[in-house]
Amino acid sequence: MKKLLIFPLTCLLLLTGCALPGTESKASSCQFFAMDTIMSITAYGSSADGAMVAAQQEINRLEALFSRTRDDSDISKLNAAAGSGQAVTLDPETVSLLDFARDYAPWFDITIAPVMDAWGFTKDSNRVPSQEELNRLLPLVDASRLEVDADRSVAQLPQAGMAVDLGGVAKGYAGDRAVAILAEHGITSAILALGGNITALGTKPDGSAWNVAVKDPKDTSKYICVIPLVNKTAATSGGYERYFVENGVTYHHIIDPTTGYPANSGLLSVTVVADESKKADLLSTYCFVLGADRALDAWRTWTDGTELILVKTDGTVLITEGLEEGLDFQGKERGYECQIVRR
Ligand code: ADP
Ligand code: MG
Repeated sequence: MKKLLIFPLTCLLLLTGCALPGTESKASSCQFFAMDTIMSITAYGSSADGAMVAAQQEINRLEALFSRTRDDSDISKLNAAAGSGQAVTLDPETVSLLDFARDYAPWFDITIAPVMDAWGFTKDSNRVPSQEELNRLLPLVDASRLEVDADRSVAQLPQAGMAVDLGGVAKGYAGDRAVAILAEHGITSAILALGGNITALGTKPDGSAWNVAVKDPKDTSKYICVIPLVNKTAATSGGYERYFVENGVTYHHIIDPTTGYPANSGLLSVTVVADESKKADLLSTYCFVLGADRALDAWRTWTDGTELILVKTDGTVLITEGLEEGLDFQGKERGYECQIVRR
């Protein structure tokens, strides 16, 4: 079996630029590995170094709560107790993230874990499960059966074999928390990349917007477009981020919970721009599973300024109208066609 695993940070690229000479802001940057991906933070200001250490500690704290590979994490405790009839006491933050994330089923379903495991994505030992195996596992995927009691800070999985995987939303939530920590330390200008989740705190020190490039899923050394970002976050999900090839067929890590197979919805990537990183992260995975038409139907119901960039397999790039201003579309020379979608 030919195995290819491309780790995230391939999907969105930061074009941060530098502080103008004469502006007193000093840039500090750090890069580290957490939540199974490469993360980087660049922050400006005299308190930037201490602020970034605190932000990194916060991300490590959240990884210890949400990880599936650490036995003592909240999620491991919840999963280990599946079917025991016992509700598990969890950190209020875990409970609140479970509560937030379970509303997007069936397309985004945090109880996808048994199927992720069957494909070997959890332990990077990929294989194609048999249809029989998937048929046995799919009934375990049903977030509506996850019981959450926020008042008591407990949760419970009703059946043995059920398990939660927060991989589609945890990095986004960590991004929101990391930005909050930077702000608490007095930082007003920073850019964070937690895998494919990019968050812009304020503007660049010269007052201009941060520029974020959406990579071409077919050639990640090139861009589809560059968008300006100020106090916003952008998350990309794409089948090209993490995948393996077996017998000439590519299998990626975003699973359609209705089939148990990698989502095959006619999209190469989805970028979501939103106020909150946990929302952008979740919705990018959700819309990737939904496909373009249903993702746009969902977008038409949103009233909070959340916007989409949908890169279709046929080369069409659908960009919702809220991103039109300042958009620099660069995909034309490689055969992509940009269409602005209006409400
Ligand atoms: P990445 O984590 O690689 O940046 P995504 O944000 O798109 O990419 O999340 C993909 C992760 O989400 C998978 O690795 C898995 O943990 C989880 N996942 C995959 N399919 C689904 C789904 N349909 N619903 C919820 N979570 C999913
Ligand atoms: Mg996601």
